[in-house]
Amino acid sequence: MADRTIRVRFAPSPSGHLHIGGARTALYNWLLARGSGGSFVLRVEDTDKDRSTDEAISEICASMRWLGLDWDEGPDVGGDHGPYQQSERTDQYATALEKLKADGHVYRCFCTPEELEAEREVARQNKRAPVYSGKCSRISEAEMQTMEGEGRQSSFRFRVPEVGVTVIPDAVRGRVEFRNELIGDFIVARGDGSPMFNFANVVDDSAMKITHVVRGEDHLSNTPRQLLMYLALGETPPEFAHLPMIVGADKKPLSKRHGSTSVEEFRAKGYLAEGLLNYLALLGWSLDGSTTEFTLDELTKSFSLDRVGKNPAVFDMEKLEWLNGVHLRKLPVETLTKELREFCSESTTSSPRFEAAVEVVQEKMKLLSDFERLGSYLLSDLEEFEDAAVEKLQGEEEFHSILDSCSNFIETIKDFTKDNLHESIRAHAESLEIKPRRVFQVLRISISGKTVTAGLFESLEVLGKEESLARLQFAKKLISN
Ligand code: GLU
Repeated sequence: MADRTIRVRFAPSPSGHLHIGGARTALYNWLLARGSGGSFVLRVEDTDKDRSTDEAISEICASMRWLGLDWDEGPDVGGDHGPYQQSERTDQYATALEKLKADGHVYRCFCTPEELEAEREVARQNKRAPVYSGKCSRISEAEMQTMEGEGRQSSFRFRVPEVGVTVIPDAVRGRVEFRNELIGDFIVARGDGSPMFNFANVVDDSAMKITHVVRGEDHLSNTPRQLLMYLALGETPPEFAHLPMIVGADKKPLSKRHGSTSVEEFRAKGYLAEGLLNYLALLGWSLDGSTTEFTLDELTKSFSLDRVGKNPAVFDMEKLEWLNGVHLRKLPVETLTKELREFCSESTTSSPRFEAAVEVVQEKMKLLSDFERLGSYLLSDLEEFEDAAVEKLQGEEEFHSILDSCSNFIETIKDFTKDNLHESIRAHAESLEIKPRRVFQVLRISISGKTVTAGLFESLEVLGKEESLARLQFAKKLISN
């Protein structure tokens, strides 16, 4: 690995959103490139015309940009090994197919889908693996011409050795062996020469000089076929690394049933790119089994394939949320303000108390979306109280006396800053011979109408004296004696 410049790629099929699994693959490849001074290539695998859309390409690119996973070569940025979209690489596949034909590695297969299904059914009944029988590899030139004359559709099949094993040295899984008899001759291209996924993938990784193919374990079963094609084309295969599956708490592959799975959904829910990336890095990799918090820079320095595990990685939404909170609370307040300006509604960001509220609410937030929920009482007028807040206040026997006495006291405070407010209201509570904690709770709920809020003194400072006193009066009217 050391003497070659690493060239890795992310090769999404643009049939939908960028999902957690794809984002993790993109991240690991990106980290390998950035950590080694290598190159990260984005290649769009759109050979399946029915399922690929331009919207999906745009969305995948947008998700990657938002995550900060930039690419050195790709559809929009170009590069020396383009084009980077498979639908534009027809000539390359045709040339490679000619080579396979010329060297006798492929043959034409005229079997119809019905015939193939019948073959598979017989195999199943005889408890054999449903691999292709190789029937068409044995037909004569004359028979072939007859079938062509009948207008039969054909495809090109790759000749797999009938005996022996194909061995994949995998950076994560070690030596993985596949028995050739279980692989069976497979289709590389349709009759019109249009390539199948496995073939296009190999032609492109060779042409793009990819040194390491790092991808999800769901592709492991493709790899022996691909390895045989590299050899047949006279190309050096890349090193392979298959990343462990990502599963839900029920150990089933992560899917919609488990909740949000696309990067766009997490973004819309208020996750930060750095929080999501940190969590994705831990889905299959660990530095030392215990460190959980990483910046992207730290990941770039410490990531390596030899610390990627084989076991399925369990996606834990709570841990992701917690980790996002860690990153969010560490953000410089200016950066968080900027993030929130983009994330929140206009009515929030235009509040005269918006900026002051960011500073106060930050310590309680895990997601950007927490801001409006937790900070609503600071951002706009207080019109109603949560039921739980009313209940709490009603349960405080001394509510009215605390409120009256504190209102009078607060009226006299000149230095309306959080530290002074804290000190003087504490002293006032002590003079009333009531536990300060009880007094603080009454005030906090009264100025917010909520039970869960940011700090009392910070909130009072943001609201200012006049508004704070008005809110205490409002609470007094609301709570019956
Ligand atoms: N296009 C394939 C996918 O989206 C990836 C193939 C690969 O990484 O080799 O699953």
